[in-house]
Amino acid sequence: MNPKSANSKSLNDPRRCTHTTRNGRCRLPALDSSASFCSEHARQQENPRQTPDPEVLAAELLGDIVNFANAGAVNLFLGNLVKQLARQRIARRDAIALAYLCQLLLNSLPPMWKEIEWKEIEEDYDATASQLLLNNIARSQAARHGDQQSNETTEREAVASRQP
Ligand SMILES: [Zn+2]
Repeated sequence: MNPKSANSKSLNDPRRCTHTTRNGRCRLPALDSSASFCSEHARQQENPRQTPDPEVLAAELLGDIVNFANAGAVNLFLGNLVKQLARQRIARRDAIALAYLCQLLLNSLPPMWKEIEWKEIEEDYDATASQLLLNNIARSQAARHGDQQSNETTEREAVASRQP
């Protein structure tokens, strides 16, 4: 048996879903021996829905979200995603991928907050350290100035004591 005939045999297998996409034929088994589609594609055949314009869908999913830097934004997006999935305006597979990305975004938030906290601590520390340094410089300059004055006074006193 050559590979071509094996392939055509499996393609004509009546127990396989007959739905085809640009990636090829669906590999899932048909619902039963008389059915042409798997459960997912049978449902799609029953409820043929119009694919929404990707730009419109993106706008509805994103709403006013500017970035995903806080849990509120991710939560809002997830809520919008649930609405779109419930209305069957988004493919289940896309919804799962987006939900997974949301989970990754949420997981990245605590390390991000820690990073921001550390940056603030470092900035506070830098500010305190430079203030301390400035104070030390001022103090040592003042001390040096005081030493010079006292040295000059001692010299003057010494000169004065040498005079008759
Ligand atoms: Zn299928």
